[in-house]
Amino acid sequence: MSSAQTEAPQSEAAQSGARRSEAPQSEAARSPAAGPRPSAVDPGGPLVAALDIGGTKIAGGLVAADGTLLHQVRRPTPAHEPGEAVLKAVHEVVRLLAGDPRWARVDALGIGSAGPVDIARGTVSPVNIPGWRDFALVERVAADPAAAALPVVLGGDGVAMTAAEHWRGAARGCADALCLVVSTGVGAGLVLNGAVHTGRTGNAGHLGHISVDLDGDPCPCGSRGCVEGLASGTAIARRALRDGWRPTGADASSAAVAASARAGDPVAVAAFDRAAQALAAGIAATATLVELELAVVGGGVATAGEVLFAPLRRHLAGYAALPFVAGLRVEPALLGTDAGLIGAAALAVAHRAPR
Ligand SMILES: [Zn+2]
Repeated sequence: MSSAQTEAPQSEAAQSGARRSEAPQSEAARSPAAGPRPSAVDPGGPLVAALDIGGTKIAGGLVAADGTLLHQVRRPTPAHEPGEAVLKAVHEVVRLLAGDPRWARVDALGIGSAGPVDIARGTVSPVNIPGWRDFALVERVAADPAAAALPVVLGGDGVAMTAAEHWRGAARGCADALCLVVSTGVGAGLVLNGAVHTGRTGNAGHLGHISVDLDGDPCPCGSRGCVEGLASGTAIARRALRDGWRPTGADASSAAVAASARAGDPVAVAAFDRAAQALAAGIAATATLVELELAVVGGGVATAGEVLFAPLRRHLAGYAALPFVAGLRVEPALLGTDAGLIGAAALAVAHRAPR
């Protein structure tokens, strides 16, 4: 599709056409090595406003119909203040976006939020934002004067990252994929039959809270032996420290453990190996259940590169043993920290695409 040549808002019909041909599901070709990270070239046409709400920052962006992230702003999340203070920070981000002259081209607003979310009700209850419990985020954002008349679409952050990687990243053109964000927690989402699968409340693909250790440690979610408790960056650092690893400086994060592992420290290597094993068991279970062709792994822990991916592939070969899952590929995510905004936009675009 050629991009709209003018900056004027298009007609309803023209917009629908643009949505149809540019919808995330319609991407056909996969270009793995080229790294289709969006440039900042504005292709013209309608835009989607995107919000990415997490426990540390609230990001806002303007995203073109081809997935190009054109502009972004961010504010820290006052995560431990009352819910209304957090909302005020969201409104501030919307106000900053609305100050951009391109705001006139915005015709939808997508929100990716830390979860749990309930997309059926438009509410969020992020674990790391205690002031928001069953918080009516969609209604409150839609009430922002700048967002008046815009359709507002909500998704969880794991699902948003999945939508982004399917639209513009490592899962492009892939019919059945699982995308993971491994950082302080473990988030994930599913692509099934060529479309992002949200589930009724928007929490499908919650791999971090699948149990892979029957008698494992209790998890804050109420279960035990969850993937997140074994594979998150927090879990990796905790395990390494417990087993005698000592950081060389003040940084005792999983990134420091990764540096030690790269240098050959056996305790650090073992901590990553255990995390990779838990991820592999969860990915293999999912692949066996729904026949995945690809698992995409992103997030801060994945920046460890082969320190994580080498044991992950090795353990997957053990757990994904049946012939129909043995060909499962594992790839690093391509969009990095932009995935939250691009994914929030993708959810809004997909929601608005004619069915
Ligand atoms: Zn759990």
